Amino acid sequence: MAQEEAAVAPATMVHVPSKDDASRRSSQQQQPPPPQQYWVNGALIIGAGPAGLAVAVCLREQGVPSVVLERAGCIAPLWQHRTYTRLKLHLPKRFCELPLAPFPPHFPEYPSRCQFLSYLHAYARRFAVAPHFRATVASARRDRGVWRVDAHVAGRGHVQYVCQWLVVATGENAEPFVPDIEGLRRCISTGRAPVVHAAEYRSGEPLRGKRVLVVGCGNSGMEVCLDLCHHGASPSMVVRGAVHVLPREVLGRSTFEVFVAMARWLPLWLVDRVLLAVAALALGDVERYGLRRPALGPLELKKREGRTPVLDIGAVDKIRTPVLDGLSA
Ligand SMILES: Cc1cc2nc3c(=O)[nH]c(=O)nc-3n(C[C@H](O)[C@H](O)[C@H](O)COP(=O)(O)OP(=O)(O)OC[C@H]3O[C@@H](n4cnc5c(N)ncnc54)[C@H](O)[C@@H]3O)c2cc1C
Repeated sequence: MAQEEAAVAPATMVHVPSKDDASRRSSQQQQPPPPQQYWVNGALIIGAGPAGLAVAVCLREQGVPSVVLERAGCIAPLWQHRTYTRLKLHLPKRFCELPLAPFPPHFPEYPSRCQFLSYLHAYARRFAVAPHFRATVASARRDRGVWRVDAHVAGRGHVQYVCQWLVVATGENAEPFVPDIEGLRRCISTGRAPVVHAAEYRSGEPLRGKRVLVVGCGNSGMEVCLDLCHHGASPSMVVRGAVHVLPREVLGRSTFEVFVAMARWLPLWLVDRVLLAVAALALGDVERYGLRRPALGPLELKKREGRTPVLDIGAVDKIRTPVLDGLSA
């Protein structure tokens, strides 16, 4: 029986040799080797993004040890490898801090990507969260009162973790999505025309002086357009559906903060009305530029369909002074 170091002390993973190991060994030549099996004392957490780290720390505070599995080779790979250089948190820092550790007071209201990453590393160090990296979970199933979680672990192959509690913290933006647009995949695979997914976009510098088509008008699409403008490229944007664009700040206060405060006292539909009136005052009638608004208000839409409104940090202004074209599709 082999024992392993815990991710968050005092978790243990106990290797469980299976009953029929001996009989399996005899037929090893014909069949793939059986998975190594580990009993996790505590919870198993899938994903070492901000949510996975925070859950590990909160469980530990309650005396529950855990093991964190992460398919990448580092914590928060989305922030390390899939974000553009100019990215800052879209929300004020007090809404993005993890439990038990506020951001350092000298950080700005909207910390940069690098500051956020340094905060996450310090968080993992401070609370001794040590994820198992390059461990990709393939499946999880409930079996006689426990979870059996199958993972591919670099250097070990197929490993099965058996645990009482399972936390899936695999994120909502962890997988880049490439839509099935005719010709697009061919362009990507042959490299005939340069196509970059937002997850691979770093800066507009290589596109200086070029005409660039940006497909999609979420927070990433809008900010990429702004970055392209700042680097002297000429972006046009294709907007398929309706979208809510709100100013990031109103009269120096975060729009998000204002609506969180209002939502404590008022129904969502009323907060939505106020938000849209404020947005019209701050940004003007964005429908004139092809940015059609959905019938449901921004908060109701988020609640019902999970669609996040765009917080504008300057792209609308570029569309108004026609550096950037908004095109509806
Ligand atoms: C450009 C951009 C800007 C953003 N700005 C903000 C912001 O300002 N404020 C804010 O609060 N949020 C923002 N977000 C949202 C972002 O999703 C969160 O900040 C945060 O990363 C979510 O944390 P998470 O831990 O839930 O997910 P993630 O950070 O996505 O972490 C999920 C983890 O699970 C791992 N994983 C997935 N599948 C498996 C598997 N099968 N096996 C093992 N590991 C797996 C992934 O590798 C990843 O490390 C932004 C997102 C993007 C893309």
